[in-house]
Amino acid sequence: MSNILIYAEVTRENYLHTVVFELAYKAQGLSKKLDNASVSALLICKTGLAENFKEAFINSGFDYVYIAENNRLTHYSTELYSKIAVDIIKEIKPDIILVGATTQGRDLAPRISSSLHTGLTADCIGLDINEKGQLAATRPTFGGKLMATILCKTLPQMATVRPKVFKPAPENIVKDTKFIYIKPEIDNINKKVEFIEFVKGLNTAINELDSADIIVAGGRGMKNEAGFELLKNFAQCLKASVAASRGAVDMGLASPDIQIGQTGKTVTPKLYIACGISGAIQHIVGMLDSDKIIAINNDEKAPIFEVSDSGIVGDVFEVIPELIKIIKNAGGEETPDINII
Ligand SMILES: Cc1cc2nc3c(=O)[nH]c(=O)nc-3n(C[C@H](O)[C@H](O)[C@H](O)COP(=O)(O)OP(=O)(O)OC[C@H]3O[C@@H](n4cnc5c(N)ncnc54)[C@H](O)[C@@H]3O)c2cc1C
Repeated sequence: MSNILIYAEVTRENYLHTVVFELAYKAQGLSKKLDNASVSALLICKTGLAENFKEAFINSGFDYVYIAENNRLTHYSTELYSKIAVDIIKEIKPDIILVGATTQGRDLAPRISSSLHTGLTADCIGLDINEKGQLAATRPTFGGKLMATILCKTLPQMATVRPKVFKPAPENIVKDTKFIYIKPEIDNINKKVEFIEFVKGLNTAINELDSADIIVAGGRGMKNEAGFELLKNFAQCLKASVAASRGAVDMGLASPDIQIGQTGKTVTPKLYIACGISGAIQHIVGMLDSDKIIAINNDEKAPIFEVSDSGIVGDVFEVIPELIKIIKNAGGEETPDINII
């Protein structure tokens, strides 16, 4: 019988990265097409930490969790983690390995695939099982203009998947999960890099976007810094997080950390308001799974309207101040010439 193995990433703050739950739910769907293949997790962490996660694994429907604990594993290390992962994979021989396309996952997955001489489809946004029982992994290609579905000729078939591409299970899928402890063989491995300290930088904005219910995103149409200030005021009124298109990032109006899209972040807020963004496919792939999308654009033919639930055709410099007024309950003011489609 086939089996699917998911890398359960532990964050710097010693939590399980949420992508493991997204992949777990997706894998359960894939498993049904593979004669109920088992779905397992691979957890590598410092001694004693696994205990904290057991309930989460049980509630996420994992059949097996392979645990390698050691105090040399307190911080992520390419050499140690990849050695342990490869040893365990050789032992349990999964058919499919899924890894979150996080900073850690993007470092670890290629190491594993090259050690195992197998293929890896990186940064996938779709996973399925084809009629031959192979993993069909879909990812954007040719600068996002095409979607390519890629099959791996060798086993295990590996893929990295961006966080937030799939949704976690809407409710607990409780299983009689088996926890299997494996002694990591790492005594003879010298780390080439030693972790000293993590210095917090612009990552705060990234984390905010991950959990934001409302995102107000600005594009080239916001034109200048004053435009982006207006966007930030709008976001503040809505208690929303601010994001940007690459157009705005390239103009120096926003930090690359808050770029949404193929080469930026994938987000799934309850509401995504795109202001002065044309809707290039490379942007769309990063926000399409938002619950509701509203676009404000002065070009009624802008492609962003094709993926929006509601659209306002108008000048952002007229529409946004008016929306701010409405939100602040100013009332009685003249409304701009806007057309809701
Ligand atoms: C390999 C590759 C990867 C890429 N990755 C990304 C990515 O991750 N994210 C991303 O966003 N892009 C990405 N891009 C770039 C992408 O193709 C587009 O160029 C970019 O998204 C355009 O940004 P924009 O919509 O802000 O600008 P534009 O396409 O210039 O659109 C500006 C929009 O603003 C509107 N507008 C102008 N003035 C006003 C006004 N006063 N009021 C209202 N509306 C107005 C215009 O009608 C227009 O629709 C990538 C491209 C490539 C080739």
